[in-house]
Amino acid sequence: MKKEDCIFCKLANGDIPTNTIYEDSDFRVFLDSSPATKGHCLIVPKEHFDNLEELSDDVASKVFPLARKMMKLLKEKLGWDGFNVVQNNGELAGQTVFHFHTHLIPRYEGDGASIAMSHTSPGEGELEKVLEQILS
Ligand code: 5GP
Ligand code: ZN
Repeated sequence: MKKEDCIFCKLANGDIPTNTIYEDSDFRVFLDSSPATKGHCLIVPKEHFDNLEELSDDVASKVFPLARKMMKLLKEKLGWDGFNVVQNNGELAGQTVFHFHTHLIPRYEGDGASIAMSHTSPGEGELEKVLEQILS
């Protein structure tokens, strides 16, 4: 189902034109309007889901196969050297458009893009505590 006032519902369903690189009955893949790198695009389902948590298993099961297909296409056409697949859920995690989407970001030597993760050094027993919390 489409959601009124959702920009990605309109883009995915062709109500607003996009720079589309791929389309099928479930998805549209189009260029991000503020790309992190050349060829940065978004996999967007035609049906509205706020985020990954809300996504149907059926649509979810098709996202990675499609990401792989697009990676191959972009490799062939743009010749990337590395590739990030990014998917943000919730404002705190950087989601700005609340219609599920997956970023496909080709990477090139010296592209200067920053898709960083800062790591921490857990103290003695900390990981075990987290594990206990998750498994209890
Ligand atoms: P998020 O931050 O929610 O993970 O990603 C939203 C992405 O959508 C951003 O990279 C942003 O540049 C892109 N975006 C937002 N509005 C539009 C639009 O109207 N057209 C296109 N092509 N991309 C958009
Ligand atoms: Zn939507």
